[in-house]
Amino acid sequence: MFRALRLDETDGRITASIAEVDDNALPEGDVTVAVDYSTLNYKDGMIVNGLGKLVRTYPHIPGIDLAGTVEESSNPRFKPGDKVLLTGWHVGERHWGGYAERARVKAEWLTPIPEGMSTFDAMAVGTAGFTAMLAILALEEHGLRTDSGDVLVTGASGGVGSVAIAILANCGYRPVALTGRTSEADYLTGLGAVEIVARESFLEGDPRPLEAERWAGSVDAVGGAVLSRVLSQLRYGCSVAAVGLAGGPKLETTVMPFLLRGVNLLGIDSVQCPAERREKAWARIARDLPMDKLRAMTHTAPLGDVPRLANAILKGEVRGRMVIDVRA
Ligand code: NAP
Repeated sequence: MFRALRLDETDGRITASIAEVDDNALPEGDVTVAVDYSTLNYKDGMIVNGLGKLVRTYPHIPGIDLAGTVEESSNPRFKPGDKVLLTGWHVGERHWGGYAERARVKAEWLTPIPEGMSTFDAMAVGTAGFTAMLAILALEEHGLRTDSGDVLVTGASGGVGSVAIAILANCGYRPVALTGRTSEADYLTGLGAVEIVARESFLEGDPRPLEAERWAGSVDAVGGAVLSRVLSQLRYGCSVAAVGLAGGPKLETTVMPFLLRGVNLLGIDSVQCPAERREKAWARIARDLPMDKLRAMTHTAPLGDVPRLANAILKGEVRGRMVIDVRA
């Protein structure tokens, strides 16, 4: 038996409770992992609250990422004792996830934890931090250089935003934090933001197809009206990496920024990202994300707190990264 957070469905209503689950109920897979930590991401908030039709069958164990130690493996790539992490591949959505002391998964979904990182560190980064790194890689591949100018990070106080700021600053870029929580200005400056922009003032006035050229790049966790505004303010030939939809999935824009300024809208997907790119991103995280900044943005909570925190993250009330200690 192992302990897990289980979601059940009754008449379309989703309830979450801590349950003892039989090992025989674990799904098929070639690797069994003793989970140390999972995390809380925006998508976990949606899943635990039954939103977005992300989960197809119940009972379900959520948690879109996990880190731990291999217990059993019938795949030659992994052996008992290996430290591994998992993000994406619809784990926690279509497959049972990380809010449990034990998980059974496919070997191809696992990434070895980089040298020098603990299972806790790996989850302090988690899906959100990994995705922030993918966004920065994409911007660099499209020409972003440290002397290019200001890089706007939206949803700055959240998980993706916080990690993006810390990595950009450490690499010598100039991250500017766009936030709805200006009360977090000291936190964001501490991570390395060179300037704070209030979301309210950023969205003031009627949007125009082309506005003053301002940003050399952007990591956008918000979408909606914010992304539309970013597109009209990107400098000539520059790019925005579209990561998230915390402000809404709809994008109203014109083709003008693309035709007249040659800007790029880069899509970022962390779920089906190929293994080679994952290892490249994790190696950059291990090199470029300062551990003191990571710890400063990370809180830890026990499994039983997940339902409460899942509501809080949907309201934009969680700051930085939230690690879930599945054994606590
Ligand atoms: P998070 O910790 O909740 O961060 C989101 C941040 O967005 C919040 O902290 C808040 O920052 C801002 N925000 C919240 N509600 C908003 C609203 N109504 N309007 C405008 N801004 C709002 O979530 P996360 O885990 O970092 O994820 C961020 C987004 O990226 C989510 O949409 C998530 O689904 C997406 N994501 C996508 C991928 C992918 O593969 N593409 C992977 C991971 C995450 P401030 O208070 O600072 O404004």
